[in-house]
Amino acid sequence: MRLIIYAILGFIIYYLIRGFSKSEPKRPPNSSVPPTGNGKELKKDPVCGTYIPEDTPYRLKHKGVPWYFCSEACMKTFQKQIAEEKGKSKAES
Ligand SMILES: [Zn+2]
Repeated sequence: MRLIIYAILGFIIYYLIRGFSKSEPKRPPNSSVPPTGNGKELKKDPVCGTYIPEDTPYRLKHKGVPWYFCSEACMKTFQKQIAEEKGKSKAES
């Protein structure tokens, strides 16, 4: 009876090891870091919440703080929000 349990355990362990070696094809040890774009820091798009690499072309500075966006649409939405915050209803077109 015990032999069967050991056999099953061994099988599970064997499968785990095989699974691990398959899912990690020789990557540097720090590959457990979340999906950063080639080691670049990811910034959160304040509009839609997407994470984008900080070298995105869609970025702007507001009150000395850099903001990063996934797309021009999000950047414009943010600019609009800033304009509304300032009390200016005049948004960029
Ligand atoms: Zn976005």
